[in-house]
Amino acid sequence: YMAHNKLNFTDMKLNLKDTFNIELPADKNLTNTRRQVLDACYSFVTPKKPKKPSLIHFSDELAKEIGLEDYTLSKEFLEVFSGTTTSPNTNPFAMCYGGHQFGNWAGQLGDGRAINLFEIEHNDKHWALQLKGAGETPYSRTADGLAVLRSSIREHLCSEAMYYLRVPTTRSLALMLSGDEVLRDVLYNGNPDYEKGAIVTRAAPSFIRFGNFQILASRKDFKNLKLLADYTIKHFYPEITITGKEKYLEFYQEVVNRTLKMVIEWQRVGFVHGVMNTDNMSILGLTIDYGPYGWLEDFNPDWTPNTTDSQNRRYRFGNQPDIALWNLVQLGNALYPLIGDIPAMEKILEDYNTLFDQQYHQMMKNKLGLEENYDNILHDDLQAVLKLTETDMTIFYRNLSSVLKTDFAENALEKISNAFYKPGEIKEKIKDNWIKWFNLYIERLGREYDLDAIRKEKMNLVNPKFVLRNYMAQLAIDAADKEDYSVINELYSMLKNPYDEQPHNEKWFAKRPDWARHKVGCSMLSCSS
Ligand code: AMP
Ligand code: MG
Repeated sequence: YMAHNKLNFTDMKLNLKDTFNIELPADKNLTNTRRQVLDACYSFVTPKKPKKPSLIHFSDELAKEIGLEDYTLSKEFLEVFSGTTTSPNTNPFAMCYGGHQFGNWAGQLGDGRAINLFEIEHNDKHWALQLKGAGETPYSRTADGLAVLRSSIREHLCSEAMYYLRVPTTRSLALMLSGDEVLRDVLYNGNPDYEKGAIVTRAAPSFIRFGNFQILASRKDFKNLKLLADYTIKHFYPEITITGKEKYLEFYQEVVNRTLKMVIEWQRVGFVHGVMNTDNMSILGLTIDYGPYGWLEDFNPDWTPNTTDSQNRRYRFGNQPDIALWNLVQLGNALYPLIGDIPAMEKILEDYNTLFDQQYHQMMKNKLGLEENYDNILHDDLQAVLKLTETDMTIFYRNLSSVLKTDFAENALEKISNAFYKPGEIKEKIKDNWIKWFNLYIERLGREYDLDAIRKEKMNLVNPKFVLRNYMAQLAIDAADKEDYSVINELYSMLKNPYDEQPHNEKWFAKRPDWARHKVGCSMLSCSS
C-alpha cells in the first residue's frame, strides 16, 4: 500500500538532536555500493523497505524513557522502526569502522547491517537510534545487510535483560518482522535455509566502537581521528575538561575504566559475549552486538557459546578480562597519535590489572556476602570446588544467601544442592571438598557484622535469580517461529526484575533441561545471524 507517503510524522513528536552526522565528515559518495570509504566517519544510506513489516514486541519502559510511549502502537512507529519510511528531517547513515577479529587486523568493517536513523533528546538524555537488519550499506561486504528472527529475538531480549541486571549495555526498543525471507547457513556446513527476516531497533547514547578510531589511525587519517575523539569527549565524556594531549590521555583512562567495569559485571552475572572483537567494543563501555553470546549455566570458566571459536576459545568466560585488556591495547595504538606519551599509556595499562583485582574482589565479596572476612583462599577454593562437578552458577549463588551463620556445613550444602546437575556425584571426595569449603565459609560468615537476613537481602541484589539462559531464548524463538510471541512477552516481563523472587516464575529458576545440552541455539551458536 502507498498510504505511507501521506503520513504526518509530526504526529510522532521526535525531539531530533542529530550530532554524529552533523559534526563529523560524511562520505561524499552517495551510492549504496560496497567500497572502502576514506576521509569520512560514515556514509548516508537509506534502509531497505521491508516486504510486510509487523511489530512483535517493544520495550515499554525504554519507549517511555525515549519519549515514544504514546506511539508504540502507531503506524508511524511501525514504519519508522522497520525502515519502511524515513522520517522527515533525518539523514540515516552507516558508520565506518575497522577492527581486530579474533586477534587479527581485519581492515574496514563498518555498519554492514546497522543503519543509524537519528538522535533524540528526552528528559535530558541523549539517544541514538539504529536499525539492525535493515539492508545493505557500503560496509556490507559479501553479506546481505539483513538479520533473522532468531538472532533478533536473542539481541532484543538480552539487551533489555542486561540493562535490568545493571550491566552497562546498549538497549533494544523494538523487534519487528520484516516479512522478507533471509537465507542462512546456521552451522556453516553447506545447508542454507530460508528464515524469517527481522529488524531490531537499538538505542544507546552512541554506537561508536574502538574500531571507529582504529580505522582512521590505520589509514593515518589523523585529522578525522582527532575530530572523532573530540566529538566523543565533548558529548559522552563531558567531565573531561582538560586540554591538549592530556585530554586524550584522560579519555583513554576513562574508556579503560568503563570497559573494566563492564567486564566485571559480565563476570558477576555469568555473561559470555562470544565475539569480543574490537569492532564489538563500545567506546562508552557498553555491552554491544549480541551475537553468539551465552550464559554460564555449569560454572566452567573455559566455556564459550561460540562454535566459530571452539578451537582456541579466545573468548571463553574466564578469558574476558584479559581480552578486554588486549582490546584496550589496540585502542591505545589507535589513540597514540593524539597522545604521544608511551610511558603514560603503559602506566594506564599496567594499572588495569591492579584495578581489575580490586574491583573483581569487591564484586566477589558482594556475591559471597562477606564485607569483612573475604580472602583469596576462600575464593580460590570455591573456584576449584565449583569445577569438580557440573554446578549451575546462577542457582548456586542465589541459594548461597540462604546459608545461616549457625548452619553446619552439611545443611549448607543441602541448601545449594539444587545447583548440581548430577546430584549423585556429590559423594566421597567431591562431597568432602564441598564440606571443607562450607566450613571455611560459615566460619567467615560467623565473623560478619550483618545479621543473616540483612546479608541475604544484600546478596540477592547482586546474585540474580533470573538470567536469559540459552535454552530460554531458544524456547522463545521456537514459539515465535510459529507466530506465538507469548514466550517473548513472558521472558521480557520476568527479566525486568531479575533480582526479585517472583514465585510465579519459579519454573524459570531451574537448571538447563537435558534436551538443551547439545541443541543448536542452546549450547552451540555460530556467528550466522
Ligand atoms: P559481527 O561479528 O556480527 O560484529 O560482524 C562483523 C562485521 O560483519 C560487521 O562489520 C558487520 O556489520 C558485518 N556483518 C555481519 N552480518 C552481516 C550481514 N548479514 N550483512 C552485512 N554485514 C554483516
Ligand atoms: Mg559487530
